Amino acid sequence: MSTSLVIAVDGPAGTGKSSVSRGLARSLGARYLDTGAMYRIVTLAVVRGGVDLTDTPAIELAAADVPLSVGYDPDEDKAYLDAEDVSREIRGDAVTKAVSAVSAVPAVRARLVGLQRELASGPGSVVVEGRDIGTVVLPDADLKIFLTASAEERARRRNQQNIAAGRADEYETVLADVMRRDHLDSTRAVSPLRAADDAVVVDTSGMNESEVIAHLTDLAQQRAGVSQ
Ligand code: C5P
Repeated sequence: MSTSLVIAVDGPAGTGKSSVSRGLARSLGARYLDTGAMYRIVTLAVVRGGVDLTDTPAIELAAADVPLSVGYDPDEDKAYLDAEDVSREIRGDAVTKAVSAVSAVPAVRARLVGLQRELASGPGSVVVEGRDIGTVVLPDADLKIFLTASAEERARRRNQQNIAAGRADEYETVLADVMRRDHLDSTRAVSPLRAADDAVVVDTSGMNESEVIAHLTDLAQQRAGVSQ
């Protein structure tokens, strides 16, 4: 594909957003930016600092200058806190439980949104995955996708991933966590999770990963054709 596209992929946890965004980037030969990983790295620093998650000024302070970096390669999970590879640790329970509270803090969002805009600019196409990419971070994106699926379907998928990773949580626990994060992410004051008015909403319930990737690749190619 010769036309460069900026593609925003948003949606709640468990829609397959991450695998699908990586697959889309791969199929388009685009760079991939995982903004959730950036919130997770900052959250890890806050958690390690032993900060009370109800203390917003303390979160702001702990999060202010966290040195973080992420990669662009859809095939490599690259997440660094300073020089330390934290790509595994940021997916752990401690960070997953705390990340919604940290990402609800306006100063944290302001800093990361600025960084995300910088990282998204640059050569070639880019697929940027998150919660507020089409609405806030890149409102001029060429293509905005909003992925959805029922909470039960998302919890079922997350549970299967956990089992595959050797962590066998109860389905009910996973469902409760999915619903808790949905609620926090969609009701927070700054950048609540919602589809942009011009987003293409794709319900992935009943679709497998390759079907979703093929569908999104088609959408991107159509969009590239239009903008040529
Ligand atoms: O996508 P992932 O589950 O790794 O994101 C972790 C958390 O980071 C989300 O639950 C959400 O609270 C936050 N996040 C956000 N805005 C983004 C990306 C992630 O608030 N653009």
